[in-house]
Amino acid sequence: MPFRLATAPAKPDRPNEDFAAVGTDAAVLLDGAGTPPGTESGCVHGVAWYSHTLGGLLLSALSSGDTLAGALASSIERVNRLHADTCDLKHSDTPSSTVVALRWDASELEYLVLADSSLVLDRAGTSPEVVTDDREAVVGAELRKPMDALPTGTPEHEQAVRDYVAALADHRNRPGEFWVANTDPGAADEAITGRVGLDEVAAVALLSDGATRLADRFGLATWRDTLDTLADAGPDALIARVREAENSDPQGQRWPRAKNHDDATVVYGHTPA
Ligand SMILES: [Zn+2]
Repeated sequence: MPFRLATAPAKPDRPNEDFAAVGTDAAVLLDGAGTPPGTESGCVHGVAWYSHTLGGLLLSALSSGDTLAGALASSIERVNRLHADTCDLKHSDTPSSTVVALRWDASELEYLVLADSSLVLDRAGTSPEVVTDDREAVVGAELRKPMDALPTGTPEHEQAVRDYVAALADHRNRPGEFWVANTDPGAADEAITGRVGLDEVAAVALLSDGATRLADRFGLATWRDTLDTLADAGPDALIARVREAENSDPQGQRWPRAKNHDDATVVYGHTPA
C-alpha cells in the first residue's frame, strides 16, 4: 500500500508534538498532550519526546506478533522505564498521547484508536467509516464552555485553557471517563480495535485532531470531501486548507477552540487502482 505523510507544527518555533511513521506492514500516528509550556509536569523531557518515543517503540512492537493492544501496553511500559529514574511518573500532568495504529498483511487490516485522533476507512461503495474515540469530547463538552466563550489569544482565554486542562485531568484514565496513553499500560485495553478485509478498503487516513477540523469542528468539509482532497491533492493540501480556515477566524469567534492552530498530521494510504 503506497503511503503519503504530511505534518505541520502549530507554530514554527514550537516542537511538533504529533508523531507519525509508516513501516512495511504497520503505521502509527500519535498526538501528544500535556500541560501548556511553562507548567510543571513532572517530566523533564516534555510532550514531544513522549509522543515521538512511544510512537517509535510502538511501530517496532507492531512487528512482534503481539496484539495491537498488547504492543501498545508493552510500549507504554518501555517508555516508563526510559524515564522512571529522571521523572515523576505519578505526576497528574505527566505527558500523554493519542494513538492510532494500523497493521496489515496480505488479506487484512487491523486497527487501534485511543483518544481523539481519527482513522478514516474509505470502504468501497459505502460512506467513509470514521473510527474516533469521542470519550474525551463527551467528558469535555461541559468543561470547555467557559474557554469557548472567550476570544482565542487573550490572557483570559489562556487562563481558561489552563483551567480546562486541569479540570480534564480529573477525568483522565478513569473507568467510565476517558483514556489516553500515558504511564498506565492498562489504557491499551480501553482502545477501540477492529479489523477489516483489505479488499474492502480503497484507502485509509490517519489524522490528528489538528487535521480533522474542517470535517469535525468547522463543518467546512464532509469526510468524503476529506478523502477526496487526500486522493486528489495529498496530505499537504488538506493541512493547507485547515490553516486557511483557521487564519480566517484568528480569534475563534466562528469556531471556538483552545488553540488557533494545532499540530496537524496526516498519513494517507491507498490501495493501487
Ligand atoms: Zn520524562
